[in-house]
Amino acid sequence: MGEIKRIGILTSGGDAPGMNAALRALVRSGLKAGFTMLGIERGYAGLLKGEIRQLNTRSVSEILHAGGTFLLTARSKEFTTPEGLDRAVSIIHEYGIDALVVIGGDGSFRGAVSLAEKGIPVIGIPATIDNDVASTSYAIGFDTALETALDAIDKIRDTSSSHERGSVIEVMGRDAGYIAYAVGLASGAEVTLVPEVPFDLEKDVLDVIRRGRDIGKHHYIVVMAEGCGSAIEMAEKIEEATGIVTRGTVLGYVQRGGRPTAIDRVIASNMGLHAINLLQKGVVNRLVAVRDGRITDVDAFEGVNMKKTIPEVLLTEAMKLF
Ligand code: ATP
Repeated sequence: MGEIKRIGILTSGGDAPGMNAALRALVRSGLKAGFTMLGIERGYAGLLKGEIRQLNTRSVSEILHAGGTFLLTARSKEFTTPEGLDRAVSIIHEYGIDALVVIGGDGSFRGAVSLAEKGIPVIGIPATIDNDVASTSYAIGFDTALETALDAIDKIRDTSSSHERGSVIEVMGRDAGYIAYAVGLASGAEVTLVPEVPFDLEKDVLDVIRRGRDIGKHHYIVVMAEGCGSAIEMAEKIEEATGIVTRGTVLGYVQRGGRPTAIDRVIASNMGLHAINLLQKGVVNRLVAVRDGRITDVDAFEGVNMKKTIPEVLLTEAMKLF
């Protein structure tokens, strides 16, 4: 590997609040370290089209507080094919990119590792509201998504408690229940359902709601990750079985965007700084991570093979609060 002078940066997969803070930190600290910073638009899709431009310190002005990603993001099927990957490698060489920083989730990291296997030095920065990246305990965007979901649930609670109704709220998370688990705990939901832990409708949902009614609760909240099914259908089933008027709400894409919280801005900025520090030392093929409460990095090849699931015990413990 030659000396690193030109660094390409991209955001990939789902957008996450705080991606801009990471980009800003990469560009500003990268320029100060003497690197040329190249922004690749629309993730791997834009890489394959050569949507690449040089960035300066002004390119990242006024983005720190904004959700989404100013470099835009996309998903690309073509990139996952052997031909697509080879094309990506030749475009990286054509633009003289010596190392690539990929900001995204698990899929984006797999893409980065496939480039590393072809000899392209890479660094990954975890950003996904689902917080399901195995190599890190925290991914950029999670805290903002939690705040947004919690704010919506608190509002729904005001109405449902006033009307003595039940509420079933579907939050994001097709395969990962981190958002559901955390907002379930923080909102005082009577029932939380996550994709990692199978549930029994009668025992885990209906019995809990009936027990609540028997001890005088006027309303209840069920938080479920989208991977556990439809909140609307669940509300119908509960109403039919218990006779309690129940409404289902799907929070959907509101959870994705929005102004990043202070925590997301701070962690994202520090992750960007960490990535540039690694590149200055010539350390590559690493995934930036939060481990034991501090920002560090792990081997990219090992990182993408790690597994992360919610332990069932967390849900069992949360149930003690009802
Ligand atoms: P999110 O968690 O927000 O969905 P993600 O990074 O996991 O983010 P994906 O859609 O899984 O999002 O991945 C983003 C892009 O990374 C894909 O469109 C594809 O181009 C590339 N990618 C995903 N998986 C692989 C893989 N196994 N090998 C190579 N490239 C991949």
